[in-house]
Amino acid sequence: MKNIAIIGSTGSIGTQTLDIVRENKDLKVVAISAGSNTALLEKQAREFMPDIVGIWDEDKAKQLRVALSDVNIRVVSGMEGLIEIATYEESQILVTAIVGMIGIRPTIEAIKAGKDIALANKETLVTAGHIIMPLAKEMGVSILPVDSEHSAIFQCIHGETNMGVNNKISRLLITASGGPFRGRKRDELKDVTVEDALKHPNWAMGRKITIDSATLVNKGLEVIEAKWLFDIEPDNIEVVVQPQSIIHSMVEFEDGSVKAQLGTPDMKLPIQYALYYPERRYLPGDRLDFTKMNGIIIDEPDCETFFGLNFAYNAIKAGGSMPTVFNAANEKAVALFLDKKIKFLQIYEIIDACMKAHTIIDNPKLEEILSTEQWVYNFIDEMDI
Ligand code: NDP
Repeated sequence: MKNIAIIGSTGSIGTQTLDIVRENKDLKVVAISAGSNTALLEKQAREFMPDIVGIWDEDKAKQLRVALSDVNIRVVSGMEGLIEIATYEESQILVTAIVGMIGIRPTIEAIKAGKDIALANKETLVTAGHIIMPLAKEMGVSILPVDSEHSAIFQCIHGETNMGVNNKISRLLITASGGPFRGRKRDELKDVTVEDALKHPNWAMGRKITIDSATLVNKGLEVIEAKWLFDIEPDNIEVVVQPQSIIHSMVEFEDGSVKAQLGTPDMKLPIQYALYYPERRYLPGDRLDFTKMNGIIIDEPDCETFFGLNFAYNAIKAGGSMPTVFNAANEKAVALFLDKKIKFLQIYEIIDACMKAHTIIDNPKLEEILSTEQWVYNFIDEMDI
């Protein structure tokens, strides 16, 4: 039996993780948490009967305590509660299905408590990869990627950089779908709506990552995530557009051999791979039919229209606190766009302004990452937008 804890159980990754648990009797959910969706959290609690349930807001926690008073489940709240869920002694692995930088502290505490991490929450690695990766090594815990591209790379390097060999990777090729606006030019993006941006061609995901896919910021975050996960310099990480989302990413080795991982676009595969690594299990679902494919398309990303990748490469090359600025500015800008307070292209303007105004802190400690996040939010509040 493998006991798992999930932070962000009510979201896209969280609910798909629970789908996998439902299908596999040797997985048990012992702790779950959400931000504000009390109704779904209560439903999940009644179905999976974890020992602890966490909700961010203390008033909602009070309501949940009343609602769950007939069952033996403890309800916790706030950051303290989130950390309690992440470090719960009965769990072996934490699924970080929470969205945004709020995942940093629980992830760090879980690693300190010796939990393996099935990592979906990329914002945490983007901003605190320099803390998390060495800490995981020191604690002997595994960081198992859930992001489909990083899972693909992880699957490709299995047996190449572990199991007693260390074959040199010369290049990572991260694939991008191109998002809902692929092929459009800047002028055509001026008046796109939130509804347009939320129509991802291949993946059904949470709102924030769907907007990140439309701006290519998501791919930028993934480049930084890949740097930390696989210890590869950004110059050796290339992004290619694969609009069918069939090739999930590729790895080129020093002899020129390229390995790719392919499959239908289904997040359950990488989630399940992370939960059972290195074992594979049966997963119901569609299979690729190569005879019905009209060729596999690969294209270059349009970095003149979509600035997400440019910002990411600049941020990771600048280093220190700059990836935090890139990420935090994007988090806030996307929230403003989703609230219909800014236009789509202003997301780029906000990120750009924050990155230009920031004075880099080298090798930032956790407190400095969090204070940089706050600096970004204050800076944006004072912007004339
Ligand atoms: P969703 O928006 O669908 O879900 C986010 C989850 O986080 C929800 O359960 C939400 O709770 C919870 N949450 C938000 N704020 C808090 C808080 N303060 N305390 C506790 N829980 C909180 O996001 P996704 O599932 O799409 O994405 C999650 C992460 O996975 C992101 O980092 C994303 O980049 C990454 N990812 C997602 C993929 C996908 O296919 N969706 C693919 C690859 C990576 P509530 O529902 O109550 O608001």
